[in-house]
Amino acid sequence: MENFNFSKKKLSVSAICILFIVLFMVFNFSNIITFFGTIENKTFDLRQNIIAPYKKVSKDIVIITIDDKSYEGLTQKFGEWPVPRGVYARLVSEIEKQNPKVITFDLMFVNPMRYMKENDAALVETFKKNKNLYTAINFDNQDRRSRKPIELPEKLMTSVVSSSKNINFQNDKINFSNCRSILSGIINATSNIGHVNMTRSDDGIVRTFPVFVKYRDDFYPHLGLKTINGYLNQEYQIYNIDKRNNLLLQDIKIPLDNEGFAILNWYESQNGKVGGFNTYSLFDVIEAMDQNTLNEFDFKDKIVLIGTSASSLYDIKSAPTDKFLPGVGLIATFINNVLDNNFIYKASVQTNFIIAIILSVVIVLGLLFINSTVLSVVFALSLAIVYVIVATVFMHYFNLWLGVILPILMMTTTFIVMYIYKYLLKAKDLEYTYKLATTDAMTGLYNHRYFQEQMFLSVETAKRYEGVTSLILIDIDFFKKFNDTYGHQAGDAVLKQVAQIIKQNIRTTDIPCRYGGEEMSVILSNTNYEKALLTAQKICDAVSSRQFKLNNVVTVNVTISLGVASFPKDAKSVEDMIEVADKNLYLAKENGRNQVGNFVKQNRENENIDNNQ
Ligand code: GH3
Ligand code: MG
Ligand code: MG
Repeated sequence: MENFNFSKKKLSVSAICILFIVLFMVFNFSNIITFFGTIENKTFDLRQNIIAPYKKVSKDIVIITIDDKSYEGLTQKFGEWPVPRGVYARLVSEIEKQNPKVITFDLMFVNPMRYMKENDAALVETFKKNKNLYTAINFDNQDRRSRKPIELPEKLMTSVVSSSKNINFQNDKINFSNCRSILSGIINATSNIGHVNMTRSDDGIVRTFPVFVKYRDDFYPHLGLKTINGYLNQEYQIYNIDKRNNLLLQDIKIPLDNEGFAILNWYESQNGKVGGFNTYSLFDVIEAMDQNTLNEFDFKDKIVLIGTSASSLYDIKSAPTDKFLPGVGLIATFINNVLDNNFIYKASVQTNFIIAIILSVVIVLGLLFINSTVLSVVFALSLAIVYVIVATVFMHYFNLWLGVILPILMMTTTFIVMYIYKYLLKAKDLEYTYKLATTDAMTGLYNHRYFQEQMFLSVETAKRYEGVTSLILIDIDFFKKFNDTYGHQAGDAVLKQVAQIIKQNIRTTDIPCRYGGEEMSVILSNTNYEKALLTAQKICDAVSSRQFKLNNVVTVNVTISLGVASFPKDAKSVEDMIEVADKNLYLAKENGRNQVGNFVKQNRENENIDNNQ
């Protein structure tokens, strides 16, 4: 029985632990949500890394990158950094000769440069002349006292009309109160200016793309969006978002999440080299321009993106597929997603919940049929792994981001609950089996096997600790008579009632057993001969003073005979104890029944008689 108490203890300890965990979760709800959100994002990264090698990038995108080589080489060539703006003006004119679709600077031409007025003027002229030339502006939340927010002309703003009830552009990742100004000449010369703000998830990794940001309550499109519109020869003053959160660009749909971000589908990339995109070093391009060999580079009909990738120039982001992704790679990724129309759609919470429930049901069914613990764990693990694979396949073929964490959390919880439930059932079952194996069904006393076990234990314990133990053997007098006169049923009734009386007249530590037939026994651990004798006499009196009901009509008197034996007084082993108790019982029968036989007393009396004679 002790085993079961132990398991109950274990269960209550687990229950208390679970309670604490639940309380902790309730009080830290938002933290927990963020925590699991971050893990879900990591599973997104994992899936992206698996499927990225299968995605091909467009050959229409060319990146001219200001890499470490350009930074060093050009600083040396021009004796300063940054490169004089006249050089960019010249470069644009040269590239334009090949008729690229667009040229986009992911660079900000900030404050006028003091000794370089003619350079700035040349660049402004270039923007005036080339309608396919784009550049960047950047918003932030810098203190208004240290930098006064500038006014931007209406031509840079845009309207966003949304039929979706879910999108809310009010979050503070998208709303800005200040702006870093660029050359006013450029602002006057062109409306081809887009923002290059970007958004990081809680773990600092860029996964989404802010297609619009808000500055002083007006919408401004991203430089990537401006660029793609230039490429598609379209101009929007109003952008429409349909009911299902899709930003519409003619027949292209860009799905946005509820905060207004596009979730990017990433391409293979390594150490800042955005894999697959045609990438040239700015240094090589400028050298080629100076040597009149720019024809070796192919810019015809291309989207030409110019941006920094040198780590010293601080435009490096962490993306799911690359820890060192340059900002220009981010824009290239967005543009390529638009060209292929393959942005990521995030499955709704409801969808994920339904999947979680289906998987949990499978777990329940599985555990109902599997009995082995190892197999159950293997089954649950395999199911989880298969699901993760399916979720990866869905991301690859359907651009669908199925939740992984919610379903796996629910599967785990279901598994644990099911397991505890099964464990409880099993414990109950064992308890029942144990009872079956140790008790006598008719009388409810312990059976003969249990009697032998406990006798052995009791004698061994007494031996080990130099203690005492006693045994009472009980036999019903003239029992055959009840059977013969009133039938076996009546005999059984007598047996049951005698058993009941025995139980009522012993201590909880005493063990009442059915020895066999109409013979019963009581093991009295830690009890000496005298005290056992008293108990035996008490039982004997209790039986003889009771009226036994055999049926509705017949009531009879029943008596019993008893024999007692004690360790170490009478015997040193189980066998000897039974033999002595049996001898004493026989003595009681001989002396007229309805008594406790006492060999020692008898001997003494016999001696007295002998002495008297
Ligand atoms: P005494 O012990 O006083 O010498 O006489 P007795 O009649 O009890 O003697 P004996 O031991 O010969 O008879 C025992 C009888 O108990 C024999 C058997 O039919 C009956 N018996 C044993 N087990 C059961 C049982 O489970 N139910 C019933 N009804 N009878 C049983
Ligand atoms: Mg008998
Ligand atoms: Mg008998």
